[in-house]
Amino acid sequence: MKCPTCKKTRQQFESTEFLPFCSDRCRLADFGKWLDGDYKVSRPLRMEDEVLMEEIPIEQDIPEEGIQYE
Ligand SMILES: [Zn+2]
Repeated sequence: MKCPTCKKTRQQFESTEFLPFCSDRCRLADFGKWLDGDYKVSRPLRMEDEVLMEEIPIEQDIPEEGIQYE
């Protein structure tokens, strides 16, 4: 096993508390990479979530449709 951030081998780890990272510093460095947007630029998650949430109430209204307009 190696630290994903600094590539130290397991034997060089400061502690086992932050596995798979060697230290709290490396763990936070990797977490910061996600927050900075390295991984989220390629895909617009917000748009997809909104479409899914709008579909649910529309389907639930269908049984009442005929009654309302006659
Ligand atoms: Zn490290």
